[in-house]
Amino acid sequence: MKIKLLDGSFKEFDQALSVKEIASSIAISLGKSTVGAKVNGVFVSADFVVDKDVNLELVTTRSEYFDDYMNMTSALITGIAIAKLYKANLAETYYNADEKEFAITFEVEPRIGLEQLESIQAEVNNILKLETIKSSKMTMAQAEKEFAHNPYQLHLAQQANETFGYVPVYTLCDIKAVVIGGIITDIKVMKVIDIQQLTGSYWLNDSENVMLQRVHGMCGINQISLDEKKAMIEERRSRDHRLINKQLNIFGFDNLVGPGLPLWMPNGTIIKDEIKTYLKLKEWEYDYVHVTTPVIGSVDLYRTSGHWDHYGEDMFQPFSGGNGSEEQFVLRPMNCPHHIAVYKQEQHSYRELPIRIAEHAIQHRYESSGSLTGLERVRGMELTDSHIFVRPDQLATEFKQIYKLISEVLTTFNIEIDYLSFSLRDPQDKNKYFQDDKMWNDAEAALEAVLDELNLEYKKCVGEAAFYGPKLDIQIKTAQNHEITVSTIQLDFLLPRKFDVTYVDQNQEYQTPIMIHRGLIGTYERFIATLLEQTKGVLPLWLAPNQVEIIPIGNSENFDYAEQLRQIFKKEMIRSHIDLRDERLSYKIRDAQTHKVPFQLVIGNLETQNQTVTFRRYGSENQVTISQQQFIDIIKKEIASKQ
Ligand SMILES: [Zn+2]
Repeated sequence: MKIKLLDGSFKEFDQALSVKEIASSIAISLGKSTVGAKVNGVFVSADFVVDKDVNLELVTTRSEYFDDYMNMTSALITGIAIAKLYKANLAETYYNADEKEFAITFEVEPRIGLEQLESIQAEVNNILKLETIKSSKMTMAQAEKEFAHNPYQLHLAQQANETFGYVPVYTLCDIKAVVIGGIITDIKVMKVIDIQQLTGSYWLNDSENVMLQRVHGMCGINQISLDEKKAMIEERRSRDHRLINKQLNIFGFDNLVGPGLPLWMPNGTIIKDEIKTYLKLKEWEYDYVHVTTPVIGSVDLYRTSGHWDHYGEDMFQPFSGGNGSEEQFVLRPMNCPHHIAVYKQEQHSYRELPIRIAEHAIQHRYESSGSLTGLERVRGMELTDSHIFVRPDQLATEFKQIYKLISEVLTTFNIEIDYLSFSLRDPQDKNKYFQDDKMWNDAEAALEAVLDELNLEYKKCVGEAAFYGPKLDIQIKTAQNHEITVSTIQLDFLLPRKFDVTYVDQNQEYQTPIMIHRGLIGTYERFIATLLEQTKGVLPLWLAPNQVEIIPIGNSENFDYAEQLRQIFKKEMIRSHIDLRDERLSYKIRDAQTHKVPFQLVIGNLETQNQTVTFRRYGSENQVTISQQQFIDIIKKEIASKQ
């Protein structure tokens, strides 16, 4: 048989060999560190016997897939422990790489409780002292007999059989289990498994199905690596914007209003409005004009644009205009066609271009309820959108201007960028992209030339372009380790043609402009989620909903002075709040810290008599007493700096 290795080289053998034997034949050390392989794209264990020509990628303890193997094996070992202790029917093994967590689902009567996790941990530790897990292949007929009593394993067996033509079965402590995914059969490689949680989940994630029990855990090659993983996950969880929101009260949801439809609370609305004022000013600086267009559009509008065909399933379904009316509308999923309609209200000459139409526009998408995640994934959102109409000779210059605007804005917010993605079409994909080779080649070459001229580092992503043209996306990572696009610049040679958008050139002839879609900071929803995560909720002063917490202590004169100060601050456009509660000073200070208020003023007799203020900054123990005016100057200077 002939084996093709990852580096493109071939190895020939005259008999069937296991993955480990093949690895050892290349180098003995390689054999030792091999835990499995990807055989024709399928993950198998090290004792899997190869008996025909295949593509083979070895998985070693240093491989990028090692974590998957270790976690799937930990899930299996945990499952075997549970089956052994409680005669449970095992269901499925899972590995969530984002959370670095494995899980196994199972069914058992009576259901187990949290107090049993300790016994499971002890049994897992016992199993870790054993030598090997035996792997084997079953036919579907054999699997049907073996797992006749277990509908979950039977389901997995069928799934595996359809994909691989056999059922991968693992045996440990005389218990058999079907696992789809790589398993390390040499238990000595496995070192630490930490059982952590007991939850429930519906079989196949379907609420019509039975609720299974689920044990979660983490694993590592040693205790140190496990502790590091735990600390990393803990740190990330503490940055989750949904958690931070609990202290800052920025947004909420109400199932009666509808899942995924954010309610911006007073604090959130302040943040949003501050950002909007700043962005509109920046857009004004870069010669954008602002428009306001409806949140709905006719179905025909989106048929013409092509969104109906390409994004139809992500849209809310059409509704009719009135009783018996033939008119059909949708909640708009995108604003491009509306802005084209704005452009087309008048005839434009070549001298007027570029025309930059901006709108902080509300739009809706029908995301599945399972995917809704705080502000990160919602069904109603406000996009910092713009469509820019340019002549071909203006494309490069305009692109650079847009990029400059975006970088200035992201710098103001100190947003940490993960990478830039230059998205191209996949020429093989005839369905996703409209067909015009010349247009695509020209557009991609033009964009690449500009990116190189700007000296930007980017990843080329084939098959990621929009259906109408190539684009540049600025990517960031969320606390949940999700990759999202914050800003985008997309070239579009198609929509102007579809809508017959024109300008009159110097020869009095009609020409088609190029349209650029520009998302400045994406949607307010995602952007504010990102901001909360990247700042851990400690917003810069200009964005803090409450900038000064005034804490009066003692007699009523001090409370009066506190109110006087609040009024003075209001005139100066400084946001403040008086803590009137009957609590101890230390409690109030701690509370203001929890809410991450940038300045705390403690108002006692001395301050009232001298008409001064004593302040401390968030995160500092230092108290400083100064005059009212000095304090106002400090605050206003810092607000203006946006730092
Ligand atoms: Zn657009």
